[in-house]
Amino acid sequence: MAKVAINLSTGALQQAEVIVGIDLGTTNSLVAYIHPEDKKPIAINDQGRGTIVPSVVHFAQNGETLVGTEAKDYLITDPANTIYSIKRLLGKSYRDLGEHKDYFGYKIIDDDSEGLVKVRVKDKFYSPIELSAEILKELRERAEHSLKTPVNRAVITVPAYFNDSQRQATRDAGKLAGLEVLRIVNEPTAAALAYGIGIDPNEEKTVAVYDLGGGTFDISILSLHQGIFEVLSTNGDTYLGGDDFDRAIINHWISENQLVADTINQDKNLSQELRLKAEEAKKVLSSQEVYTSNINGEIECHLERHTFERLVAPIVARTMENCRQAMADAKLKPEQIDAVIMVGGSTRVPMVYDAVSEFFGKPANNSHNPDEVVALGAAIQADILAGNRKDILLLDVTPLTLGIETMGGLMDPIISRNSKIPTKAGRQYTTSVDGQVNMKISVFQGERDIVKENRKLAEFDLKGIPAMPAGFPKVDVNFILNADGILKVEAIEVRSGTRQEVEVKPQYGLTDEQVEQMLMDSITHAKDDVSARMQIEARSTAEQMLYQVERFVDKNAEHLTEEEVALTRKNVQNLKNVLASGGDKDAIYGAVDVLEAQTSPFAERVMQISIKKAMSGKKID
Ligand code: ADP
Ligand code: MG
Repeated sequence: MAKVAINLSTGALQQAEVIVGIDLGTTNSLVAYIHPEDKKPIAINDQGRGTIVPSVVHFAQNGETLVGTEAKDYLITDPANTIYSIKRLLGKSYRDLGEHKDYFGYKIIDDDSEGLVKVRVKDKFYSPIELSAEILKELRERAEHSLKTPVNRAVITVPAYFNDSQRQATRDAGKLAGLEVLRIVNEPTAAALAYGIGIDPNEEKTVAVYDLGGGTFDISILSLHQGIFEVLSTNGDTYLGGDDFDRAIINHWISENQLVADTINQDKNLSQELRLKAEEAKKVLSSQEVYTSNINGEIECHLERHTFERLVAPIVARTMENCRQAMADAKLKPEQIDAVIMVGGSTRVPMVYDAVSEFFGKPANNSHNPDEVVALGAAIQADILAGNRKDILLLDVTPLTLGIETMGGLMDPIISRNSKIPTKAGRQYTTSVDGQVNMKISVFQGERDIVKENRKLAEFDLKGIPAMPAGFPKVDVNFILNADGILKVEAIEVRSGTRQEVEVKPQYGLTDEQVEQMLMDSITHAKDDVSARMQIEARSTAEQMLYQVERFVDKNAEHLTEEEVALTRKNVQNLKNVLASGGDKDAIYGAVDVLEAQTSPFAERVMQISIKKAMSGKKID
C-alpha cells in the first residue's frame, strides 16, 4: 500500500513516494518499508513467496535471468551459470580473494589481478556490481508489485567493515538497478534501529550486534552518542556461518552411514539431497529435540539436538573468540554493554543464543525476526531520510583523517578523524614555482604527518592554471565527504575558475585491522613524526628561499652591486651546503636567517625602482 498525501495547493491526491530499505545479504536479501498506517517497518512478501530472497542469480539456457529461490535450485545442477555469494566479490580484485579463490563454483576471471574481478558466465563477463544489480532489480520489482507504486529510492545496508570501494560498488549496483541510493547504512546500525535504539537523540548506549548468517559472521560493538552511531570495533569471520553447521551435519551422516559414504562422491543428486536435509534438520532442531527423515525411503536422516550441539560447539566457540577480541579492541567489559542484538538466521539455534547471552551476561534481544531485522532497520532509516521523522538525525563518523600532500611530502589534514559525516572542508593552496600551470593533488588517508606512511587514495592534476609567479595562483581544494563515507575532492583555481574533481573510489579498501594499525602507528610514531615534520618543513622553507633568491638575483642583478651579488652567492652556497650535508633543522634555519637578513633589503629597493619606472611611463615586465 502506497502512502497518499493531499497536495494542498491543488487539492489533488498525490502519491507520496515510498523509500524502501534493502538488506543485500551474502546468502539472502530482503526489502522492507514503513507501513503508512501503523508506521511500523514490514518486510515485503510479494505474492506469498516469503520475505527472503536468496541472493542467487541464474542465467538460464533460454537467456532468461532468474533470481532467488528459483535460481537457487540450479546451484547443484548448473553451477557454472548460477552465481551465489556475489557480495563477497563486491569491490574486490582477484588478488584480494587470496586463499578463497576456490570457494566459488563459477568462473572468476584471473587475468587482471589488480583490477576489480569479473565473473564469466558462458561467453559473457559480468562485474559483481552488475550481478548484485540483478538481485536489487528483483527486490525492487517485488516491492513495486506488492506496493503497486513505482519504487525509485532506497537505503541499502552493508557490513560495518565494508571499505569505500565496497560501499561505492554497492551504491553503483543500486544505480544500475534503477534505484537512487539515498544512504548506505551499516548492518549493525540498522539492526539497532529496528530495536528502537538510536531513535531518541539523547540516548547514550553501547550495543553489541551479533550477526551469524549463512556464510559470514560479524560482531560489531557500537556506541550511540548524541544521535551518532560510532563503530567502536568489528570482528568476525567472513567464511563462517550456518553453511558450516550444515556441513558438520552432512559429515556426521556420512560417517554414520556406509552407503552414503560409498556413493556421495559419485552421486550429485545425493549430495544435493543431503545438503537440503541437513539444513532442514538444523532448522527443525532450533525448535524441536529430534529430526527424522529419509532420502527416497532408503537413507535415514536422523539427528538429535544434543548431537547437533556437540557437532557445532567448536564453530560457536570460534564466534565467541571473535566476540572476546571485539570487546578487547573496544576496551570494554561485557557489563558495559547495554544491549545485545541477535541478527542472522543462524542465531535461531538455541545454543548460539545461550552462548551469546552468557558471554555478555544478559539476555540477548531476539524479539524481531533475525532474518528481517536488518531490512526493517533500513526501512526505518529510509523513513527518516524521507523526512517522516524530523526529530531524528542519524550521523556517522569517519574513522581516519583525510588530507593532501604538501611540500616535502607532508600530510595536510583537511577532514580529521572522527568528524561527523556528511561533512565538507577545504583549504587554499598556491604554486611553488613560477609559471607553474599544473598542480598535483594527492589525497591521503591516515594519521601520520608524513604522507608516505599514510594511504594514498587518489591523485590528479589540476591543469590549466594561468602562468603566474609562484605564490600568486589561489587554488581552493575542497573535500566533500558524503553520508556513506565516499569522498569527492575538487580543486578550483580561483582567478581563472579552472576546476577539476575526482570521486575517490579506492580500488583497495582497508580492513579494520589496517585502520587500527594506522591509528596505532600514529601514536607510537608521534614523536618521530613531529621531528620529521619539522625537519621537512625546514628543508621546504630553505628550498623556497633559495628558489626565490636565485630567481631574484638573475632578474635584478643590474640593481645590485657586485659585492652584494657575491655575498648573496656565498650565503646561497652556504645554505645549499647545509642542506646537502643533511643539516638539522636548527642549522638550516640558521643559514636561512643569514640569507634572509642579507637579501630582504633588495626587494624593497627593486620595488622602489619599479614604482619610479612605472611612474615615468616605462613598461615593466
Ligand atoms: P546472510 O545475512 O548471510 O545473507 P541470513 O541471515 O539470511 O544470511 O542467514 C542464513 C542462514 O540462516 C542459513 O545458513 C540458514 O540455514 C540459517 N537459518 C535460517 N533459519 C534457521 C533456523 N530456524 N535455525 C537455524 N538456522 C537457520
Ligand atoms: Mg545478513
